[in-house]
Amino acid sequence: MTDYVFETSSGEEIPVVIETRRGLRNITLRPKILPIREVRVSKPWLISTSSAVKFIEQKRRWLEKIFDNAPEKIILTDGDIIEFLGKKVIIRHDSYKKSNFYSKDEKTGEDILIIGGAPEMLTRRVRDFIKSEFLSEVKKIIKTAPMDFHPKKIAIRDTTSRWGSCSSNGTISFSWRLAFAPVDIMRYVIMHELAHLKYMDHSVHFWATVSQLYGDGVGRAKLWLTKNGQNLHKYF
Ligand SMILES: [Zn+2]
Repeated sequence: MTDYVFETSSGEEIPVVIETRRGLRNITLRPKILPIREVRVSKPWLISTSSAVKFIEQKRRWLEKIFDNAPEKIILTDGDIIEFLGKKVIIRHDSYKKSNFYSKDEKTGEDILIIGGAPEMLTRRVRDFIKSEFLSEVKKIIKTAPMDFHPKKIAIRDTTSRWGSCSSNGTISFSWRLAFAPVDIMRYVIMHELAHLKYMDHSVHFWATVSQLYGDGVGRAKLWLTKNGQNLHKYF
C-alpha cells in the first residue's frame, strides 16, 4: 500500500511505503529502483507517519539524485515515439502552444501528439495527457457493461502493487499505467473490478461474472499481466 507519494522536481511520482517496526531507533529510508521504483520507509513505533513524511522531504535532494540518476526509466524527449491506449504517436514539443492535442504529420501521415508549454514540463505534460486519455477510455469501456455494473466513482492512481481495486463504497480505482497495456488487457482489469461491485471475493461466482463481462480469454489476460506487468512502469 502506498502511504505517500514522493514527487520529484522532474515530475515523477514515486510511491512511498511506510512501515512501523518495533525496536527500531531511527527512521530508515530505502529508495528502490528495480523492479519497481519506490521508497521503503521503516519507522519506530513512536514516530508518526507525518513525521516520517517530513523526514522524507528533508532527504529530498538525496532521494531525487538517486531516482534521477537511475537510467531504468524512459524519459521522453521531442521526437520520441510512444504507444498508449492502442495508439502510436510521435511526441512533438511546441512551446508556442498552450494545450496538448493530437495531430497528423502532413508529409508522412503519422500520428503526432503536440505538447505545449515549457520544455522542462514535457514529461509531466505527456504523463498528464495520457492519464486524462486513460480516464476517458476507462469510462468508455465501463459504458459497454450493463448498467448495474457501473461504479459510483472512478479514481486513477499510480499504484505499483495492483492494477485495479474496488472499495466497498462502490469506488473503483485503476493504475493509469494500464494505458501502456493492450486495450484488451485494460478492458480485462476493468471488467474484473466491475465484477467486484457484485462479489467482493474471488469466488466461483465472481470469476463467472468476470467471464460474462469480459468474454473468453480471462486466463490469457491474467497471464499477460503477470508476464508483462512490470514493463508498464518503464515510462516516466
Ligand atoms: Zn480481484
